[in-house]
Order: sequence, then structure tokens, then C-alpha cells
Amino acid sequence: MGESQTRSFVLRGDVCYNRSLTEFDARRDAYVVCVDGVSQGVFDELPDRYQGLPVVDCAGRLVVPGLVDLHVHAPQYTFRGIAMDLELLDWLNTYTFPEESKYADLAYADEAYGYFAQDLRASATTRAAIFASLHVPATALLMDKLEATGLKTYVGKVNMDRNSPDSLTDGSAQASLAATCAWLDQVDGAYRNTRPIITPRFTPSCTDALMEGLGALAGERGLPVQSHLSENLTEIAWVGELCPWAACYGETYDRWGLLGGADKGARKGGADKGGATERGTGPGVTERGASKAIMAHCNYSSPEEVELLRARGTYVAHCPQSNANVASGIAPVRRYLDLGMDVGLGTDVAGGASLSMFRGVTDAVMASKLRWRCVDQSLAPLTIQEAFYLATLGGGSFFGRVGSLAAGYDFDALVLDDSGIRSPRQLGVEQRLERFCYLHGEGGRIEHKYVAGNKVF
Ligand SMILES: [Zn+2]
Repeated sequence: MGESQTRSFVLRGDVCYNRSLTEFDARRDAYVVCVDGVSQGVFDELPDRYQGLPVVDCAGRLVVPGLVDLHVHAPQYTFRGIAMDLELLDWLNTYTFPEESKYADLAYADEAYGYFAQDLRASATTRAAIFASLHVPATALLMDKLEATGLKTYVGKVNMDRNSPDSLTDGSAQASLAATCAWLDQVDGAYRNTRPIITPRFTPSCTDALMEGLGALAGERGLPVQSHLSENLTEIAWVGELCPWAACYGETYDRWGLLGGADKGARKGGADKGGATERGTGPGVTERGASKAIMAHCNYSSPEEVELLRARGTYVAHCPQSNANVASGIAPVRRYLDLGMDVGLGTDVAGGASLSMFRGVTDAVMASKLRWRCVDQSLAPLTIQEAFYLATLGGGSFFGRVGSLAAGYDFDALVLDDSGIRSPRQLGVEQRLERFCYLHGEGGRIEHKYVAGNKVF
């Protein structure tokens, strides 16, 4: 439903955005200029050279970058907000796998993905990295529906060929790879906004042969990768049994080029510091693989695994609400940020109940405080501005120049009406954004949404 219009205009309002992790800009009654879908920057006075552009007057509203959901499962949207009583592996077997099996039925997928796409369109999310199920027709249908929203997304057909119920397996590595190739032939390049991403569910669901094939496919087709890593302690122990050759869980992806970094030559000869990146053991070591990858969670990554992720430039998708609901743990986000790693936020629906990335921002702050108080006082909690960075620039850079309103970034923006969150106090722009993150459900409203300069609503 993207409205056709000029992608050159000016938004006037109370603007706040991150320039970087540590630089936050908040200005009352400012102008953000969009030319051909790209921000020209934020100005207190509108420069003469932009005087001819139409002005969308949102005075008194907040103008912020669109939010990026770096990890969400579309077929699990149907059971968000219930089934919170089990840990990860039991939760998968009891609730998730039976639900995802239903997407063999295209009529069910049509209804379920219709709700997901509608709600994602109405949410604060402008970009997302999305898991579908392993079913090719349903995954293509999801991509059709997402394309129509105007949001920009990566969508993955999920790969599973072991430790999966009969109703939810591709049967063999060969069959899984063949289905993935057929899916890619159908969808790769078929959309403007929607792109495929290679998606092994996680190591327990994928044989080495499947992982090897997916790494080769990512390299051949120039596709990114998304998966899960070091979420839960039982899962990590199981991976150790399944892949005794691996020094850490992360190596079960990296051996096949599935952690990213292929275009940086990072996998050649293990020249990176720390030794953790040397891959010399076993067959199948390849120079090929994905240039970039997202690994969700990384709650318990060992120092060797962290070094491997850092060396590969792997994105960590931090999913604090899911980690609490499935009782998994708390990722050491501060440590990853201190190491200069790329970290974004994910809702991880249905591990996370809410599709709201505003909720994700405040959950990240709260989880970091609990971690600081209960686990490790050497890692300072996140500030609201740092968590907002994770939800914008942190995850946005996976999509390119995305996640800020600074000059040169794709014009992804939200106009927020916070007038319904009433208070007699005069609040600053920064405080109003913080309050919107916490209280958006109590009178806040997303008035407009833009993706790369296109108005979604
Ligand atoms: Zn997940």
C-alpha cells in the first residue's frame, strides 16, 4: 500500500536520532530533508537550497529513525503471548515445531502471514530479518505479502534435516539444498523490497552436509546468512555432542562460511589475532561463504567464540524479551559493543511476545541492568540512547546506510504522536522519546512511517 509520491520533501518536527553509539542528537522544531529517498541531514533552519521542497508539517510530533528488527519468526506470530512455560529445546518441540508444521497448508499460511504482514506494517519496524518456515510455497507467499507493505526485509526459508519431527524436515541435506535452490530461483531478484537470506535453523537441526551446502550457496549467490548461536546451556552442550570436532558452537557455522566475513578474506589461513579463527581441522574448509551474517542471542559465547564473531564481522541480534521468556539468559551486550562488534535488537517472536521494537529498546535496558546487578558488575548497564542505537544504527547497518537521520542515510523515519501520554510537565525531546519507548502503549501513536523516502502511511 506504499503511496506513490515524490521521494523528496522536508519533515518538520522534534527530531531525535543517533549519530553513533555515543552521539545522540535531539532538537526541538527542526527540519529533516529527504531527497530521492536519502536524508540530507537535520537543520534548525531550512537551508535556501531546499526551500522549493514540500514541507510535511509535524510540529509538536517526534521524528525518529525507523526501527530495525534483526531477528523475528513470522510463522510463530500465531502463538505470541502464550506458551511461556518451557525452556528452549522443550519449547521448540512442544509448541514451535507443531505450529510451523501447519505452514504446509497454504490456506493457513495465507491467513497467518496476512496478520503478520499487516501488523508489521503498522508497527515501528521499517526493516527486518525474518525467519519463515521450511515450506517453499508459504515462504514465497510471505515474501509477496511483505513486499506489498513497503517495508524492506530479508526473509529466509528455514533449513532442517535432523532432530526434527517428520512433519518439519526437508528429509536430507540434498533435499533441503534442492528446495532452497528452487526457492531462490523463484524469489531472488523478484522483488524491490524483499530479499532472500540463507537460514539454517540452528546446528542441532542441520547436518554438516547441509551446512556445507548452504555455505557454498551463500557464496555462489552472494547471499547473507541468519541463524541462532549460544542461546541456551542445554543447546550448547548438545551442539558439543553433535559436532565434537568444533572448538566452540560458532565454529559449527564458521567452518562452512556461515558467520560472514567471506569478502574480507578473514577465513584465509587464520591470520586474525587470538588464534580462535584458525580453521585448519577437517575437510570442507572453504574460502567461500557469506559476506555477512546475523547470529541471534550469543548469550553464552566463550572468549574464543566472541573472537571468532568479531573477526568475521558477524552481527549479534540481541533478543532480551525472548531470552527472559524462554529463560535462556542475558547476552553481554556491553562487552560486544566495547569490542566494536555490530549488535542490533530482535523481537524473536514468539520467544518474545511483542512485535514492538520500542518494547525491545526498554527490554534491552532492563536486561542489561539485571545482568549488571546479578551476573557481572564489570559490564555497565545500557543507557536508553545506547539501546535506541541498537534498534536503529546497530541493526540498520546490516541493510546498508540505514538507521540514522544524519546526511547520507536512507530516509527511514517514524513520526510519533506522544500527545496522548499526558503530563503537566514540560519534557525535553530526549525525555519524550524515552517515555514513548516505555509508554507507547498508553496513548502513543505512530502517525507516519517512511522507508527509503517512500511513505508507508
Ligand atoms: Zn529465533
